[in-house]
Formats: sequence, C-alpha cells, structure tokens
Amino acid sequence: LTREGFSTVPDVTWGDVGGLDHLRRELNTYIIRPIKNPEIYKAFGANLETGFLLYGPPGCGKTLVAKAVANEAGANFIHIKGPELLQKYVGEAERAIRTVFQRARTSSPCILFFDEVDALTTKRGTEGGWVVERFLNQFLAELDGGERRNVYVIGATNRPDVIDSAFMRPGRFGNLVYVPLPNADERVSILKSIAKKKPLDPSVDLDAIAKKCEGFSGADLAGLMDRAIHVAVEEKFKPSEIDSSDCTLKMTHFEQAIHVAVEE
Ligand code: ATP
Repeated sequence: LTREGFSTVPDVTWGDVGGLDHLRRELNTYIIRPIKNPEIYKAFGANLETGFLLYGPPGCGKTLVAKAVANEAGANFIHIKGPELLQKYVGEAERAIRTVFQRARTSSPCILFFDEVDALTTKRGTEGGWVVERFLNQFLAELDGGERRNVYVIGATNRPDVIDSAFMRPGRFGNLVYVPLPNADERVSILKSIAKKKPLDPSVDLDAIAKKCEGFSGADLAGLMDRAIHVAVEEKFKPSEIDSSDCTLKMTHFEQAIHVAVEE
C-alpha cells in the first residue's frame, strides 16, 4: 500500500468540526472512551468490536470527524479510499484488504477509515458491483477476525442503499449514522471552526452569512471562506500602492464570495 495506507495520528481536533453533536457523542461513547479507558470496559466484559457507517451527502464532515476521533483518542488513523484499493490491486484485492487490517493491528489503537466504502461492499449482483464474492468474504472475515484488538472501523458512503446488508451487522459497520447537510445554527458553528485562525474584521457577521447559505455543505462553506480570502487579497493588488496594513477579512468580502457562489 502506498501513501494512504500509512498510519499517523491526525492533527484534526473536535475544535475543527462544526455541528454534528449527536455523532460526536456516539463516537465518544463507542470509540474514544473505550480506547482511553480499556480497563473499565474489560472489567465489565464489554464487547468492543464496534464499527460505524456514516452516510449522507458529500462534504458534510464524515472524513473530518473520523480524523478527529483518532486525534481525541490518541489513536493512529489509516485512510483507505475504496475505489483506489481495488484499482491498485486488480486481482490482488483480497491480499490488499488483509494487509490493511494487519497494518491496523500493528498500529493499534487504530481507526481504520474506509472512504467510499460502497465500492468495497456492494451487494452481489448490483449494477457496478463487480467486486468478486471472494473479496467480500475476505473483507467480512477481516471485520470479524476473532478479535480486532483495538482496531475500530468507520466507513463513509453517499450510497448506503447499495451496501450488502452483511456488512451492517453488529461488530462490522453496524452503527448507521446519517450525516446531514447542516442547518443554519450548524452552519454558524462550522463557519466559526473554519474561521478560527483567520483574520476576521468585526464587521463580519457569521450568523448573517450562515442564513444566506441555505443548502451549503461544510465543504461549500470552506470553499466560501477560500473565496472571501481571494477577494480580499485581490483588493490588495488593485491599487498602484499596495497597502499591507489592514489584512483582514471584511463582511463585504464574504458578500462578494456568496454572490459568486450562489450564481454558480
Ligand atoms: P465526502 O463524502 O465527499 O468524502 P465528507 O463528508 O467526508 O465528504 P469531509 O471530507 O469531511 O466531507 O469535508 C470536506 C471539507 O469540508 C473539510 O475538510 C472541511 O474543510 C469542510 N467541512 C465539512 N464538514 C465540516 C464540518 N462539520 N465542520 C467543519 N468543516 C467541515
């Protein structure tokens, strides 16, 4: 496996994630706390083989949350992109999935994150479900794997409907959680987390911006921030004499950015 198969503790924290409070609580209960306090769970004989399937529209924080979980738990993080795993290993997919779990076990505690997991778990006989039966069985076997030993799996998908139900059992990707588009309050919370390290002028009203961004995903809001920055930078280069004294983002920059975004 190349780059994405490596394990590291990510630098994303809960502070970088806006909204998604319900999901945070679940992941804290079922993954972070068990990793941090194994003795308690052991004493009760709790079953620690938990896996989550996060589903919903793109760009709403599924990857971000998975990374934050690893960071908060002090665990390693392995990011597997479903389609890439298959492409890279045509004819070798079974070996690849075994290697992934082996690597996760040797870097435990570990969060094993499968992006676009539908590519690896598609129902047999579904259109596009060219994943061979043997691969599916191997993946299921790895998920059960006797004891996963401090390896927690999180899958992400925009297409939960095509996933073979065998993958949704407890101990596999058994906890299904919807990650929706953010509402207005959540958009404020996301904007706050995105704006944390940005030079905001007091004229910037994040509540008003959030109200105007109905239907935006977290990724759209991050894009809006980038565009506002671009507008502000452009302004600096317009006059013949560049004024570097007031490098802040103003409400007008966001308004222009929203204007462009809404027109697109
Ligand atoms: P996909 O289904 O396309 O993989 P995803 O749900 O995994 O999408 P992320 O990759 O987590 O989405 O989000 C993309 C980017 O959008 C993040 O890096 C971040 O900048 C921003 N973002 C999305 N959701 C949030 C959120 N809830 N809080 C803060 N930033 C967010």
